[in-house]
Amino acid sequence: MFNAVGQRDVAIDLGTTNTLIYVEGQGVILSEPSMVARDKATKEPIAVGTEAKFMMGRTPANIEVIRPLSDGVITEFEACEQMLRYFVAKALPNRRMGKPRMVICVPSGITAVEHRSVRDAAEFAGARDSVIVEEPVAAAIGAGLPIHHAAGNLVMDIGGGTTEVAVLSLGGVVSSRSDKVGGLAMDKAIIDYAAKEYNLALGERTAEEIKIKLGSACPMPTEFEAEIRGRDLVTGLPKTVVTTTAEIREALSEPVAAILDALKFTLDATPPELAADCMDRGITVVGGGSLLAGMDRRMNIETGMPIRKVADPLEVVVVGSAKFLASYDSLQALAAAKS
Ligand code: ADP
Ligand code: MG
Repeated sequence: MFNAVGQRDVAIDLGTTNTLIYVEGQGVILSEPSMVARDKATKEPIAVGTEAKFMMGRTPANIEVIRPLSDGVITEFEACEQMLRYFVAKALPNRRMGKPRMVICVPSGITAVEHRSVRDAAEFAGARDSVIVEEPVAAAIGAGLPIHHAAGNLVMDIGGGTTEVAVLSLGGVVSSRSDKVGGLAMDKAIIDYAAKEYNLALGERTAEEIKIKLGSACPMPTEFEAEIRGRDLVTGLPKTVVTTTAEIREALSEPVAAILDALKFTLDATPPELAADCMDRGITVVGGGSLLAGMDRRMNIETGMPIRKVADPLEVVVVGSAKFLASYDSLQALAAAKS
């Protein structure tokens, strides 16, 4: 599909951990880690995205692998701009179509100045025009929630760097909260646990793999064991250790509890009418962290509320952003018709 001027619309989910690009009529065509490998001294980028993540933990002293966003804010603006430009060029190699219009979804914690800078970066990367959408709004639209009704909808996004919980009603955010805990904190908890319990040094990527394969938020019907490999902290040699689902669950207990606290705090601070709506409609949970085994069951146990999972928790935000842009058009048209 094309917009009024015959050009494709593009939606970008600029996440702390992953960036996704959705092109109208094509779907999600790019999903890569929000990472840049660069020369430490000159700050020249060497690799971006998947390639940069692969280099993590394998670089010589003069190269560093960084995340331009951390804890839901842009900490390295120049790198963020370079990354965005690289991803857009990769997703839209054929520029004969002309400049696309872009909607960019940003973490809800970023400032107005950063909004402007993200739009500048997008325009620099080739956008004709750009619109910013806040993450909880995009998540709710992507999940198909009726956010324009006068009733509360609770959305929880468990990302890499942050967990965002928001109550939406009448198309806007009524209350929200962003906590610096998510998938990355889980990886770190596994690294700390392996060091303490097995004298084993693990890399960040290995810790993430262990979390995805073995991690859980509550006891599972089938518990199992697996070998994990790292470096012995005492001898410095490679070492293999056998661990269990129960042990990894114990390792993850702190960040999982912190994520659940973010949810409970939001429920506590929600006006009673809206809280009652949320109780009926349940909690919609999105983001990569919601894929942790048993997370939904644990949320249900702790809050007594129904939990609604979406089909693709990693893509729902970018899909929602694209839908936001489409509805933005009809709102503009409505405003124009009225004036
Ligand atoms: P962000 O929006 O912050 O970029 P995402 O929603 O893309 O984050 O989620 C990324 C996080 O989800 C990472 O920390 C990743 O390890 C985690 N993740 C992805 N798949 C799983 C899984 N199956 N189990 C647990 N965590 C997962
Ligand atoms: Mg996200």
